[in-house]
Amino acid sequence: MNSTIYIPLDIEKEGKDYLEKNGYRLKFAEDVHKSTLIKDVENCDAILTRSNAIIDEDVIKAGKNLKIISKYGVGINNINVDIATDQGIYVTSTPEANANVVAEHVLAFMLALSKRITIMDEALKAGNFDIRQKVYSDDLEGKNVGVIGLGRIGKLVAEKAHYGFNMNVLGYDPYVTQVPEFVAHKNELEDILQESDFISLHLPKLTSTKHIISSEQFNIMKKNAFFINASRGGTVDESALLSALKNKTIAGAGIDVFEQEPPNTNNELFSLENIIVTPHSAALSKEGARKMSLHAAKQIDQVLKG
Ligand code: NAD
Repeated sequence: MNSTIYIPLDIEKEGKDYLEKNGYRLKFAEDVHKSTLIKDVENCDAILTRSNAIIDEDVIKAGKNLKIISKYGVGINNINVDIATDQGIYVTSTPEANANVVAEHVLAFMLALSKRITIMDEALKAGNFDIRQKVYSDDLEGKNVGVIGLGRIGKLVAEKAHYGFNMNVLGYDPYVTQVPEFVAHKNELEDILQESDFISLHLPKLTSTKHIISSEQFNIMKKNAFFINASRGGTVDESALLSALKNKTIAGAGIDVFEQEPPNTNNELFSLENIIVTPHSAALSKEGARKMSLHAAKQIDQVLKG
């Protein structure tokens, strides 16, 4: 009998077609309530899941035939990895599918912040054409961008900034073994913070990276610095970010990820002019989503075919 792949939340056609062409049966959920997941997963060989379905201990133990839980996306916080591992079930994700689109999003933040796109847009729509002579933008060319975390995404941001915009790239990552030759690697985080005009965070969320950027770090950044976080909420102390933006300790910020998601609609950050926010959407381009669905499907095929 064909193996069954459980897909609690629908994915793009590319991933589904791949699985069907390889002879798998697909099973979809009515909703993502825990009771539904527990009932549905019983005879399934794999789960292909997005972030909104919580694959906890009870769901995993109900899946007696499960061999792999394949995450569409990178963060696997919605999966109880310890229990899956105990049960001999693989847990995979799709980091390669995401990297370029997130790096592009970071460059979009850098351009929008430096060119004051949201400020100009709002002013002109309110009838203020003279804003053009009151607020001048900044160039990217020749500026320093500090990339914290030189993994998949950080390296792509560094490349795009350097080759695309003629920026000087400073990097900080104590664990990386290969640093691109155009990156000036620093051994101390402080050096990056003090010298950069743009600072972009590309770290995993770990105990060691929790609030790695807080008041102390904002206080040593340049006054004209723009800070960007499209990594994970919690790496930045949000109350410190709020103070830094309110007090103009830094010039502005581009933020895709939040300590609490979804954030409260009355989050004070949203009332500030010098921040641009996106709803954890950096990875969600049409092309990125297609790639995630396909990569997640291929992981399943690889594991089930041994
Ligand atoms: P990666 O694992 O390839 O790179 C992370 C890098 O951080 C590694 O090189 C590691 O050595 C470095 N690092 C770890 N601890 C560090 C520390 N204390 N100081 C400096 N460097 C440190 O990860 P990636 O694929 O580049 O992803 C980076 C982050 O982006 C992750 O948190 C990921 O979850 C997040 N992400 C966000 C989105 C989004 O939608 N916003 C999408 C994809 C990934």
